[in-house]
Amino acid sequence: MIIKKDQDTIQNYFEDNSGVRGSNADFVAIAETEDDVSVFIAQMSKLNTPVTIAGALTGNTASGLAFGGTILSLEKLNKMGEIEKIDDKKATIAVQSGVKINDIKLKAYNAGWMYPPDPTEKNASIGGNISTNASGGRGFKFGVTRDYVEALKVVFSDGSCSFVERGRYFAGNDDIIVFDTDKGKKRVTLPKYNLPAIKNAAGYYNYPNADLVDVFIGSEGTICIIVEAILRLIPHFKEVFGGIIFFEKRNDAYEFVNKIKLLSKKTKEENLKNSVSAMSLEYFDKNALFLIRNDYPAICENVEAGIMFEQDIYEDNQDILTEKWVEVIESSNIDLEKVWFASNLEEQEKFRVFRHRIPERVNEMVKKTKIPKVGTDFAVPDGKLLEIVDFCDAEFKKAGIFNLTFGHIGENHLHANIVATSKEEYEKCRQMYANIADKAVELGGTVSAEHAIGKLKHIFLEKMLGENGFKEMSKFKKSFDKSGILGQDNMFPKKYLLP
Ligand SMILES: Cc1cc2nc3c(=O)[nH]c(=O)nc-3n(C[C@H](O)[C@H](O)[C@H](O)COP(=O)(O)OP(=O)(O)OC[C@H]3O[C@@H](n4cnc5c(N)ncnc54)[C@H](O)[C@@H]3O)c2cc1C
Repeated sequence: MIIKKDQDTIQNYFEDNSGVRGSNADFVAIAETEDDVSVFIAQMSKLNTPVTIAGALTGNTASGLAFGGTILSLEKLNKMGEIEKIDDKKATIAVQSGVKINDIKLKAYNAGWMYPPDPTEKNASIGGNISTNASGGRGFKFGVTRDYVEALKVVFSDGSCSFVERGRYFAGNDDIIVFDTDKGKKRVTLPKYNLPAIKNAAGYYNYPNADLVDVFIGSEGTICIIVEAILRLIPHFKEVFGGIIFFEKRNDAYEFVNKIKLLSKKTKEENLKNSVSAMSLEYFDKNALFLIRNDYPAICENVEAGIMFEQDIYEDNQDILTEKWVEVIESSNIDLEKVWFASNLEEQEKFRVFRHRIPERVNEMVKKTKIPKVGTDFAVPDGKLLEIVDFCDAEFKKAGIFNLTFGHIGENHLHANIVATSKEEYEKCRQMYANIADKAVELGGTVSAEHAIGKLKHIFLEKMLGENGFKEMSKFKKSFDKSGILGQDNMFPKKYLLP
């Protein structure tokens, strides 16, 4: 274990992508082995010292930032095993929690496999991705991190350790899960509240008969330390076809997306080979496009929205698929002059950089203003997206603060970023966010579909689960982490940890 106490050398652990200031810790412990983690956390538990787990600190909600106590960094647990082929459709890879997503994706790709979860930030660690149940653009076809976790090795705050494979331990009808650790059996009861049945990264997982692996995924560093994961890989596509379409009318973009969603569903249900089946559908509003116009002067003038799409190709049918997309585009009265096409991975990668440039630009603005970022992460059920987007627009108009919206429109999951330039504006933005959260909940949605709750979004989660939900979560956390030292103030306010 490496211990760093000198405050000057640990400053970089006090900042993540949330823009939150004032993070502090007595020291940083950098684990060099998995045993280091067990020994260290058991000691901290005895001393009752709070421990915040830091992954790569790319998080948006300050969940990896400590406010007192110590930081446990897993950056040196960065070994990757070999890819194990199970059959033609499946392989697995064992990785330690500090491995970067980019490295996993690259290793899989070089061997003809794909690790599908696709968060925009590829420097994040797999431990961080699992702890936030991260996802990204390609979630439209491939789902979220949870869908690719086969097993986890976790350490609890008493120093005990458990290797939990998917399909091994389930909650009974009484919501109780009993499982083995190297120091004996543990018994926990799932928290009681209702989560929406859509893409969601808010609150501990509690669906009926939950698999224990799913309970650890998305737990934001509050109940265990993930030291290792076994991930599922699938065959990589051969090629990709895609593009960016610019729309003069925002609602035309929504209509186009609805059409593609219906076609993609049909392709899947009927197992069609030569039909439109989007891998991702991403949205950019007028202001998001405005923000990157300096980087991309070719963005058409007078546009209200952009849609980026991708289709994965597995056979020699790229020409047919391209034709199908062009047919849909033309039948939607879209001027082909307003479409940028990519016909291979390399060209499509440039569009992905374009997409990534938007949050990067927002982050640059946030760094300059030194005011925390206010970014929504709501998702709503099918058919409800326009209602919430119109609601957001009305809120933005009232406030008159620079805002932009982009994100995963295929999953009704958008990020509205509101960029405050003063403390007063920040308070106004938070109020606006609260109103948007109310609306998302009213529509049967979630306040966080991928970034999780962290230290910034308690009040929004409360709108989903109520105060009783916090009490349930606190009880649940303590059943894993008796001393309550792990990830304090993540997900729910730490006052709920008091006896
Ligand atoms: C430009 C940009 C774009 C982004 N785009 C996306 C996106 O498309 N989709 C998306 O989902 N997110 C996105 N994010 C947010 C961020 O990358 C994710 O939240 C990511 O999962 C955080 O991983 P990390 O390793 O940086 O974790 P950190 O920020 O260090 O920590 C996040 C949480 O995980 C916990 N944690 C970390 N490692 C472990 C572990 N081993 N065991 C237990 N708990 C642990 C921490 O305690 C904390 O609660 C983006 C960020 C940036 C900067």
